[in-house]
Amino acid sequence: MAERLQKILAQAGVASRRAAEQLILEGRVEVDGSIVTQLGSRFDPNQVRICVDGQEIAAEKHVYLLLNKPAGYISTLSDPQGRRLVTELLQDIPERVFPVGRLDFDTEGALILTNDGAFAHSILHPSREIPRTYEALVSGVPGPEALRRLESGLDLEEFRTRPAQVRILRRAAQQCLVEIVIHEGHKRQVRRMFQAIGHRVLHLKRTAYGNLRLGNLRPGRWRRLSPAEFRQLF
Ligand code: URA
Repeated sequence: MAERLQKILAQAGVASRRAAEQLILEGRVEVDGSIVTQLGSRFDPNQVRICVDGQEIAAEKHVYLLLNKPAGYISTLSDPQGRRLVTELLQDIPERVFPVGRLDFDTEGALILTNDGAFAHSILHPSREIPRTYEALVSGVPGPEALRRLESGLDLEEFRTRPAQVRILRRAAQQCLVEIVIHEGHKRQVRRMFQAIGHRVLHLKRTAYGNLRLGNLRPGRWRRLSPAEFRQLF
């Protein structure tokens, strides 16, 4: 994806962002053979040849991964409590990737990781309303009125949820498995939605992010997004 030239230079380790801006203003940076002095210029570092003082830079390649996050891992890049980080599951990836959004410590399932900030920003942007599909094992069995509340949107503390799609996949006397598709990603949203209708989430798994499905990827395993999956999301 296209990024600001100074950011590409900084990510490639050429200079700090500020010093990279200076290089651009001094006319020392060429993109595909033409000098660029405009600070706002954007390029896809994987599509163009960038030189500084005539020397080609090796841009960090963008990577896009889908991890099946296991429960018991935290989806931040550090943790003051010393819990295990999802990035520990990606040790054979040399690029510095970060999770796109969060899954709770106890939640498992589809988590995208990338080193492409513009891509992450785009797919998290609320206006995209990208559907997130979850399977929630909940206590008890929600009745039709409770399901209707989930579907039409309900008031949580600081916002009203957008309409969701809900279906019961399996039911037993004491608990049931519900598939819920939501179109935003607030903190602990699914757990709070079920709490609001009086049911506790016992286990939560994200099975899809947009059209990107976990399929048979086992917990703790990851794979690269295909070009078609990338295009569909972006
Ligand atoms: N909703 C939650 O409650 N938890 C998650 O991890 C993701 C969505």
